[in-house]
Amino acid sequence: MEPQILIVDDDTLLLNSLGDFLEISGFRSVGVSSAETALELIRQNGFEIVLIDIVLPGMGGLELTAVVKKKYDMDVILMTGYQDEHSYEMAIESGASDFVIKPFRYEELLLRIRRVLRERELNRERNRIMEKLKKLATTDGLTKLFNSRHFYNQLQLEVDRTLRYAHPLSLLFIDIDNFKVYNDRYGHLEGDKVLARLGEIIKSCLRKMDSAYRYGGEEFTVILPETGAAEARVVAERIRAAIEKETFMVENAPADKITVSIGVTEHRSPESITEFIKRSDRAMYDAKDQGRNRVSIHPGPDASNPDPR
Ligand code: GH3
Ligand code: MG
Ligand code: MG
Repeated sequence: MEPQILIVDDDTLLLNSLGDFLEISGFRSVGVSSAETALELIRQNGFEIVLIDIVLPGMGGLELTAVVKKKYDMDVILMTGYQDEHSYEMAIESGASDFVIKPFRYEELLLRIRRVLRERELNRERNRIMEKLKKLATTDGLTKLFNSRHFYNQLQLEVDRTLRYAHPLSLLFIDIDNFKVYNDRYGHLEGDKVLARLGEIIKSCLRKMDSAYRYGGEEFTVILPETGAAEARVVAERIRAAIEKETFMVENAPADKITVSIGVTEHRSPESITEFIKRSDRAMYDAKDQGRNRVSIHPGPDASNPDPR
């Protein structure tokens, strides 16, 4: 197992005895006598705590602390023999989590190490919870796609970007055809299974930078950054075809099919996200009007020349 603690001190007697003490106390540690060697080791090994003597030959302890704190996720405890010159404030300002004055009792250092480790664990736990909450706040529970709140935020970000850099940006608006009939026939729970499966299918048709959202009940949207209308149409057609190909099974009933109508729009500067969404929605309704299970672009040659399918 990798050592958790790195001790940096040019006093080799202290290095050895502190290393032994930490080992007896259940910690794996390694000692070095300069900041330069410490940095070499730190580059290769994920230490939790670096114990640093403030006065070192070459790069000093405060400078080493600043480098460690800037580049790595490690805590620093500073050690010094010069009580008057190096205040607690200076140590904390440099980014250290704690400070001991030589000569110190090893038991005291041990308490400080344990406290720092406990705080690291609490921090990690808090970060895990924050990540989970963030995911919950942006995800639709049924389809596991992003939710509509996240959609508005992301679309605004992408529109801002497209206004700034004049890169193309397209939006798909997807609505299930005659979904009310499916729900009436098999019940709402079976309808929900369809929604969940469609979420998977839509995702499987996208590229890495694209993102899919459950916009409303049975409506989905897809944001396609760096994508013009023609390319967006290809993605939409891929989604439409993949859904058409899928068979939905309900117990004691013959296999059934689902189709979707998709509206495609490329962003036109300087329209707002509201106008942009409205045009995508209109394109989707054009696809419905033209007979459903098709892709329609607004505006564009496709609006006046519907897919012959
Ligand atoms: P169209 O082709 O014109 O879109 O017909 P449609 O029946 O899909 O459209 P309509 O707007 O009349 O009905 C939408 C249906 O979608 C009504 C509702 O039963 C169903 N729906 C909406 N949200 C959910 C949901 O969360 N779960 C299920 N199972 N059904 C939903
Ligand atoms: Mg609808
Ligand atoms: Mg519908």
